[in-house]
Amino acid sequence: MPVRFRILGSGSAGNAALLQTDDTRVLVDAGFSARRLDEMLATAGESLARIDAILLTHEHGDHAAGLSGLAKHPHIRVFANQATAQAVQRSLKHRANWQVFETGATFRFRDLEVGTFAVPHDAQDPVGFTVSHGHDGDLFAPRRTLAWLTDLGHAPAHVHERARGADVLVVEANYCPRLLEADTKRPWSVKQRINGRHGHLSNDAARDLLTAVATPRLRHVFFAHLSRDCNSPDSVAAACAPTLQALGCAYTIVPPGEGSAAIEL
Ligand SMILES: [Zn+2]
Ligand SMILES: [Zn+2]
Repeated sequence: MPVRFRILGSGSAGNAALLQTDDTRVLVDAGFSARRLDEMLATAGESLARIDAILLTHEHGDHAAGLSGLAKHPHIRVFANQATAQAVQRSLKHRANWQVFETGATFRFRDLEVGTFAVPHDAQDPVGFTVSHGHDGDLFAPRRTLAWLTDLGHAPAHVHERARGADVLVVEANYCPRLLEADTKRPWSVKQRINGRHGHLSNDAARDLLTAVATPRLRHVFFAHLSRDCNSPDSVAAACAPTLQALGCAYTIVPPGEGSAAIEL
């Protein structure tokens, strides 16, 4: 089996995704209760007991809430930078199995190579990831790379560089500017936070990012972290589908609260 990837759940109520290879099972973020994560993993034929590690982007609850329920699973390594680990550890009753990396570092975990890079978001030291498996020229396990880009207010040049060359891209499409503007639930200050330089990506910003980083390698794009009130799959499609069709690239728009089918990288 090469690498299999699926989003377990996405949006402001929680984010988590599963990467599986023959040797390794890794979660990217764990923003649901441990019990809920276990249920989600069961639908993928997995369980928390079989998860080897979690790659943690930042400390916000919709990404890290599951950590508090992992006392029963001390074997799960939690990869995070120092600032994120400290912010999460403060709220835990047990000591998580932290594996601290320097933001910007690339490290190996079993058969995966993980690249880390800073993203602009209102957290301690938020990061995006690239996860690679296999080797160029290897017929049975050709090199494949997934880039994970959620929770960022904008995409600076170094983020473009890290996402370029990915085979699969997970990108945040958090809000439609018109729906955010029209939203009556959120006070002005919250709207400013969301669309600020350290908030979240709009559908248009996601499209511009795709246009900037797409190469002929790019095969599949997941649009994730959609706002329930200020976005819709139709709005994402209206903003981004023509660009992806022009690129000849498949895509999945993950509705808020839901997960995705599995794909092979
Ligand atoms: Zn966040
Ligand atoms: Zn988030």
